[in-house]
Amino acid sequence: MITRYKKYLDFLDSKLHKMFDSQRPFIKCKSGCSYCCEEGEYPLSELEFIWLMMGYEGLDQDTKDKVDANIQELISKPRQKMYKCPFLIDKKCSVYNNRAIICRTFGLISYDSKGKKKVPFCVDKDLNYAEVFDKESSKIVALAPDGTEPVAFNIDREFLTNKEFEKEFKIFFGDDKTLYDWLKE
Ligand code: SF4
Ligand code: SF4
Repeated sequence: MITRYKKYLDFLDSKLHKMFDSQRPFIKCKSGCSYCCEEGEYPLSELEFIWLMMGYEGLDQDTKDKVDANIQELISKPRQKMYKCPFLIDKKCSVYNNRAIICRTFGLISYDSKGKKKVPFCVDKDLNYAEVFDKESSKIVALAPDGTEPVAFNIDREFLTNKEFEKEFKIFFGDDKTLYDWLKE
């Protein structure tokens, strides 16, 4: 199953690469920028969680100890809606190749399950899409200076983990929970 899931991730990453590339004038993502890992719920399926923990198993002992300490600190507190991801070490993802689907899609404009456009929250930190987003009206109001159009993509988790993909790649995503809940188990 994991081999087939890796094929699915290769497929997804190549699609996302093209999407990010098409939106390059609006994208400010760079190494060390970690706001999207500092405050979130991080929903992920059982399959994604297994893959994430396989990444954790492959870490060196020092990094593992740091992640362990973060996990202990997180799950010792009552469940919070938004929290820092315990896999974020020194402002970098320690399990980058094994990160969840939501971690891969973050930063683009997406359609939510009701078809509404959702701009990444880091627009408020003057990052992705900030130059073309009007905070008052909450609308995209301009093109990039080179004429690139800001577009929304169908990258909602519900869509990306649907039955069609399960059938095509012969995978099964399983239950969905937040990272906190998976780690608390
Ligand atoms: S999505 Fe936003 S917060 Fe996350 S790395 Fe990109 S610019 Fe930074
Ligand atoms: S798994 Fe990695 S990319 Fe995803 S939220 Fe955690 S630190 Fe960020």
